[in-house]
Order: sequence, then structure tokens, then C-alpha cells
Amino acid sequence: MKGYESLLRSSYNWLKGIPAAPGLYIGNAYIYSKESIVVKDGTIDDVDEAISAFHEALERSKKELDKIFNVAKEKMGEQRAAIFEAQLLILEDPDLIGMIESRIIAEKREPESIVKEEFNKVMTVMYNAEDSYMKERANDIEDIRNRIIRNLKKERWSGKVIEGTVVVSEMLTPADTILFARSDVKGYITEHGGLTSHAAIIARSLNIPAILGVPKVLEMVENGTELIVDGFYGYVFINPTEEQVEFFKDKIEHLDKVNEGMKELMDLPSVTLDGVEIEIQANVDVSGEIEKLGTSGTTGVGLYRTEQLIEELGEFPDEETQTKIYSDLSARVYPDNATIRAFDLGGDKTRLFHPSEKNPFLGLRGIRFLLDNTDLFKQQIKAILRAAVNRNISFMLPMVSTLKEIRETKELIEICKEELKRDGKRFSPDFQLGIMIEVPSASVLASQLALEVDFFSIGTNDLIQYMMAVDRGNDLVADLYQEFHPAIIRTLGYIMTDCKDIDIKISICGEMAADTLAVPLLIGLGIKSLSVSPAAAPSIKRTIRSFSYSRAKELADECFKCSAEEEVIEKIQLFFEEFNIQRTRHII
Ligand code: PEP
Ligand code: MG
Repeated sequence: MKGYESLLRSSYNWLKGIPAAPGLYIGNAYIYSKESIVVKDGTIDDVDEAISAFHEALERSKKELDKIFNVAKEKMGEQRAAIFEAQLLILEDPDLIGMIESRIIAEKREPESIVKEEFNKVMTVMYNAEDSYMKERANDIEDIRNRIIRNLKKERWSGKVIEGTVVVSEMLTPADTILFARSDVKGYITEHGGLTSHAAIIARSLNIPAILGVPKVLEMVENGTELIVDGFYGYVFINPTEEQVEFFKDKIEHLDKVNEGMKELMDLPSVTLDGVEIEIQANVDVSGEIEKLGTSGTTGVGLYRTEQLIEELGEFPDEETQTKIYSDLSARVYPDNATIRAFDLGGDKTRLFHPSEKNPFLGLRGIRFLLDNTDLFKQQIKAILRAAVNRNISFMLPMVSTLKEIRETKELIEICKEELKRDGKRFSPDFQLGIMIEVPSASVLASQLALEVDFFSIGTNDLIQYMMAVDRGNDLVADLYQEFHPAIIRTLGYIMTDCKDIDIKISICGEMAADTLAVPLLIGLGIKSLSVSPAAAPSIKRTIRSFSYSRAKELADECFKCSAEEEVIEKIQLFFEEFNIQRTRHII
């Protein structure tokens, strides 16, 4: 990294954005500017003709999206492609379409302008929602609006790009991202957009480096400009110097070798050089990832995000459906363990229930929502009890901030057992109960909460968000989202020492565990179990096998005394140099 820093200082020909999808590429820019849409306004004579033109445009848009949906399914799997299925549903929304039709009839105006106005109403509500999730979804609606209007004009999509280029654009829609990938695009750079945008999710699934939220990049770059894209750190080098090109060529060569080497790691044990064993489990977000477990070298599932089921299924799964899903998971990982997390609804997650909350991150989220909706919660608890017959299921509660929440949940579990007994349903009372430590109050109260449960899983994604008072999806404050802030390191260390005399398993399932740079520090702090996405597991194992636990402990002690993130990172970088470790980051 020392080399990297001097490279940055040697020439100020770079811009910094949000590293949204990892990877490196050296190539030429392709500027993609969105078609600006000019709509015809004015009155029409033939209403019937206008209505049928509107329907033709809808049909054509559906056909286009269907095609995109199929490409997406092929490139990124059914689950992630569901983004486009959701767009197709909007094209069939009877209320929206009915409203547009009746306005064409009543006002006798050009359908283009009525489509624009009606879609804009929906978008305005979303843009005003003041949370990044809704804003990102408004961009999807804008894409559909433009598609219909373009088809009303009988124009074709002009999204041709040159193969092997880096697309530079103001922003990207999910459809752009997937279609460009078909032309073998090698990188994405946008002025707007954050980590939770669909473009970012797609780029990660496709393994194409992406840097989003790069201010003023379009002012600095033209078609054909040579660029270096560093999706690990979020730097774009414009017209790079010879020195920079050499530096990154070396890195790319090294990365290729590392990726090749990863395959060999599969069956090797996850131990430090001095023999300390570290468990690596898998985070599972979508069902597709369950399939990857077999080849990732992970041992069981450390986090199964059940709220994703609602997105995947399009509805809230009932007790029977959940029992089947959890039983399948349990069977698939057996004899390893599967940690199933209770629905973490609210916040930036599925917003089916309370879409109007002003401050959803601090609202009725996770365990708070579940204890407020005990009918739903009981269905899930019963499904867990029924699926636990293989004795390899753990159940984990998200967003716990008080002892009372744990006790109330335990009471509900007892009620569920009684009801299952009464109904003659087979279940096992033996599952491990744990909590996420992701709210500052829970971390401060760790040793007391530890007496109530079997395990902790530290959710650094939210813990950092709440400790730093930084919205994890907001690109305006992304630089304050510091996983190496000394306050975060000290908090993690505090949890470990506070619980050192208590028999409780503590693991980490936030993205920090998947950052190789964080691994020696976390292990030095005493963490013996990490849960990461299957794609990140090989590089984490490789890192663990590269250093000694005794030195990692010393590193943790040194970092503990630091007063700024930069100091912590510097110490870790020296450690990486000492053991000759390469940093790779996978964010899935
Ligand atoms: C976390 O907060 O670190 C975590 C793993 O949960 P999620 O990302 O689902 O909020
Ligand atoms: Mg969380």
C-alpha cells in the first residue's frame, strides 16, 4: 500500500469514488450519455389510436424487458435477475395503466406527456422518501418510464458500446448494466449511485469492477481516454502515467495468479501459521448461494438472511413454507450448522409493512418489528423448531438492543413449543439461540446479554452505521463509514474482553469479516469464527493461513492504541508487508 500511496501522490490524475464491485482493469473509456427524453405535448384527434399506440408501446417495452430478464437470468441466476421481474410487474400495474388510459380519454392529450406525468408522480414520492433505498428504486421507475416513451416514439434503444471498454456515465440503470455486460464491458464508472444501487449489485454478480459516485468524472474523461479502474479501493486513474500502468499491470498479473491459487485452497484447513484454527462460515443471501457452498470451502452457514425470502417469493412465507425451506437448508449443510436469522424487516430491508416511517433505520426494525407482530414471529419460530430436528439449526435475533427483547422472545418460543405439542407436530426443542450484536447498546451490555443466549454474531455493517452515525447506503458520507475507526476496533475488543469468562461463541458476519485487511486484526482481537459470502471465503482462508496468531495479537494491541483510522490501516499494511499478504476484497 505504501507503493499505492506514493503513486497517488506522484500525480493527481485520479478521482475517488465508492468501490462498488471489486476488480482491476486498464482500458479505454466509453462515454454513455442517456438519451434525454423530449415528450410531445398537445391535443390529439384520435383517442382510440392513442390508446392502441400506448398499448403497443407497453407490449414492446415488455418484450424488451423480457429479453433483458432472460439475459440477466443466464448471467446472474434467477434470484438476482428478479430485479427485472419487478420492473415487468410495473408494466402490468392495472392502477397505473388504467389512470393513464382514462387521462388520455378525458384530456385528449398526447400519451407521451401523460405517461411522463403519471410516472413522475410515483417517482417524486420515492425521491422524497429521503432514504437511499427508495431513491435507488425511483431510478428503476424512471427507466421504465423512458422505455415506454421511447417505444411510443417508435425509437430504438441506442445503447451500443464498444467491446472491452469501461463505461463512464452519469448513472446506470439495471438494464444498462446487464446489456453492456453482454458487449464484454470491462468496468463501470458513474457519477451517481451507491453500494445498494441495482447497478452495483449487478456489477458484483457479474464480477465487473465498478466505481460509483465519482464526482465530475464526465468533465474529465472523453471517449477513448485511457483509464485504470480499481474497484477494490475506488480509484479511477485518468490518462495514467507509465509508472501507474506498470504498477497496475503487476497487480493484475498477481491477482490472476491469486485467483487461480484460490481453487487449490478449497480443502486446506483454515489455520494460522502457528496452528490456531479459525472457522469460516458462509453468509447466504439468496437461494442461489446455497449451491455455491460446496465449492467455497466454508463450514456451515453463519448467517441466513430470511428477509430475502420475502423478496424472492414475493410474499410472506407461511409456517409450512418456512419449515420446508429451513429443513432443506439444514439437510444441505448437515452435519455443519446453519444459523438462521429471524426476519430483519424495516430499515433498508424489505419495506412491506411500514413504508411510511420517517427514520426507518431507527424505527420498527428487526426484533422490534417481530415483537410487535407476534403472529408473524410465531410462524417463524415454529418453523425453526420443526426444522431443528437434525440438531444443526441456530436461530439468531437481529437488532437486539435490550435484555427484555431476548426474554420476550424466549417466552414466545415456550408458547410455540406448547402449541406445536398441542397440535401434534414434530419438533426439536434443541436449537441454539443467539443474537446479532449490531446496536451500540448491545455491545456495551455484552456480558449481561451473553448470559441469556448461546452465541453472538457481530454485525459490523450496522454496528459501524450506528456507532459512526452514518447511513450505510449514503454516498455523501461514505468516507465516514470507517470500519477501521479506533472506536470500532475498541468496541470489538471490549466485547471480547467483557465476555472472556463467559462460555459464549462470538463470530462476525458483517462485511468487515470479508475484508482481508481486517482479518488479522479481528483474529488478533480474539475472534475465532468469521462468516462471509461464499465468493469471499477462499481469499479469507488464504489470508488466515498467511500469518501467525501471536503476531496478530500484538497487531491488535497496537491498533487498540491508535486514535485515527489511517493509523490503524497503516499498522495493518505493515503487517501485510511483513507476512507478504495481498489484500483482496469481495463485497457481495
Ligand atoms: C450487519 O449488520 O453487519 C449484518 C450482517 O446484517 P445486515 O447486513 O443484513 O444488516
Ligand atoms: Mg444488520
